[in-house]
Amino acid sequence: MKVINPATGQTIDELSEDDGSAVDAKVARARAAQPAWAATPLAERLAAVARFRDALVARKEDLARLLTREMGKPIAQARNELGAMPGRLDFFLRETAAVLAEETVHREGADGAAPALEEVIAHDPLGVVANVSAWNYPYFVGSNVFIPALLTGNTVVYKPSELTTLTGLRIVELLHEAGIPKDAMVAVVGGGVTGGALVRSAVDGVFFTGSYATGRRIGEALAGRLVKLQLELGGKDPTYVCDDVDVRAAAESLADGAMYNNGQSCCSVERIYVHRDVYAPFLEAFQQVVGGFVVGDPEDDRTYIGPLARRDQVGVLSAQVADAVAKGGRVLTGGGPLAPGSNVFQPTIVADATNEMSLMRQESFGPVIGIAPVSGDDEAVRLMNDTEYGLTAGVYTKDRGRARAVLTRVDAGSVYWNCCDRVSPRLPWTGRRHSGIGSTLSREGIRTFVQPKAWHFRRA
Ligand code: NAD
Repeated sequence: MKVINPATGQTIDELSEDDGSAVDAKVARARAAQPAWAATPLAERLAAVARFRDALVARKEDLARLLTREMGKPIAQARNELGAMPGRLDFFLRETAAVLAEETVHREGADGAAPALEEVIAHDPLGVVANVSAWNYPYFVGSNVFIPALLTGNTVVYKPSELTTLTGLRIVELLHEAGIPKDAMVAVVGGGVTGGALVRSAVDGVFFTGSYATGRRIGEALAGRLVKLQLELGGKDPTYVCDDVDVRAAAESLADGAMYNNGQSCCSVERIYVHRDVYAPFLEAFQQVVGGFVVGDPEDDRTYIGPLARRDQVGVLSAQVADAVAKGGRVLTGGGPLAPGSNVFQPTIVADATNEMSLMRQESFGPVIGIAPVSGDDEAVRLMNDTEYGLTAGVYTKDRGRARAVLTRVDAGSVYWNCCDRVSPRLPWTGRRHSGIGSTLSREGIRTFVQPKAWHFRRA
C-alpha cells in the first residue's frame, strides 16, 4: 500500500496490508489480552492514557507535520487538531470512573449487618472492539473510540484510514510507549478490504467512522451477527441566517465553518439558507471573506485551503458545481481545481442554490458551498429538514428564542446558535438517519463501550 502526499503526488512510504488471516490473528491476540487488561486497576489505565496525552503535547510539531504530509491538512490546522487533544483526553480521564461506578439501586432489610437483599448495577467491557476510522481528523475521531474503549477495559483492534495510516501507526506506538499493552491496542493496516475483514472477524463491537455508503455496507455485513454496531457517518449540515444578524460576523463564522479543514469535516456547513432581506449583503460579505483565504501549499503556515486528501473528490466537486450551474446556480468564486491535475480545489461559492441540486443533497466534503435565499423561518425549517442526513444544524440570529424555536423543529443530533462546525467532549456527538447510530463523547460516549450487568445479592 502506497502512502502518497496529496500535495505533491509523491510516494512517501510503502506498507504491506493485512489480509484476512492477519486480521484474524490480531483479533485473537486482542482477545487473549482482554481479561488481563480489564483486570488492570482503572488508576493504571488512566495513568497510561495521561502519559499518552503528555506525549502528544511533547511531540506536537512532528506529529502535525506527519499529518500534513500524509493527508494535506494545512499545518496550522494540524497543530490545532493536536492542540485540542489534551482537553479531549482530560474529559475521558475525568469522567470514566463515574461511568464505571457500581450503583446500588435497591436494599432490603439492612439491619447493621449485610442487607438481606441487594440489587447492584455494574458495567462490564464489551470485550474486543473493532475501530474502523476516517482520515479527516484522525486524532479526534480515533481517540473518541479507542480511548474510552481502553479506559473501560476493552481491547481494541484499530484500522486507521488508508489515507492516514502513518499517523494511525504513530498513535498506536505512542499508546504502547505510554504503557498500554501491545495486544490491548493493535493496529491493522489496509483499506476497504482489510476493514471488511476486521468487521467480519470475531469482535464484540464495531465502531465505525466514515461515509454513509461504507456504514451501510458494514451494517449489511453484520446483519445476522448480534454484535454491537455504532456508526458515525456523514452530514449535509444546514445553517439558516436570519434577517436580524450582523452580516459580516455571520459570514466570517460560516465561511470558516464551511471551509475549515478544506470542508472535509463531518460537521462542515454544507448548505446555507439566508433570509432574503439580508441575502445580497450576506453574499457580498461571504465572498470577501473567502477571497482572503490563502490557498495552496499545506506546509506553509499561512495556508488555509490545501489539497483534498482524496484525488477523486476533485471530480465529485466539479460534477456538483456543473449540476448546480445547469440548474440555475451562480458561481461567485472558484468553481474547479487550481490547475489541471491538482488536488487543490479552489474555495467555491454557488449562489441561488436549490435543494434540487446535488450540491445541496449529497455530502460535498470539500471547500464548496451552496447558498440559497429563503422567505422566512418556516421555509428555512422545511428546506433544512429536506435531507436524509441529520448530524448538525444551526441558526444565526440575535434572538435566542427564535433560534430555539427553529432548531426545535430541525431533526439533527447537534444544533448551534450563532456557531457551527463545533464539537465538545462534554456533549454527545450523534447523528440521526443517514448520519449514523449511537454516540461518541460525553458520558454517553463512554457508556457505549460497556454493557450493564445486573447483580442480585441475597444473604444466605
Ligand atoms: P470511508 O467510508 O471511505 O472510509 C472510512 C473507513 O472505512 C476507512 O478506514 C476505510 O478503509 C474503511 N472501509 C472502506 N470500505 C470498507 C468496508 N467495506 N468495510 C469496512 N471498512 C471499510 O470514509 P472516509 O472517506 O474515510 O471519511 C469521510 C466520511 O466520514 C465522510 O462521510 C464524513 O462525513 C464521515 N465522518 C463522520 C464523522 C462523524 O463523527 N460523524 C467524523 C469524521 C468523518
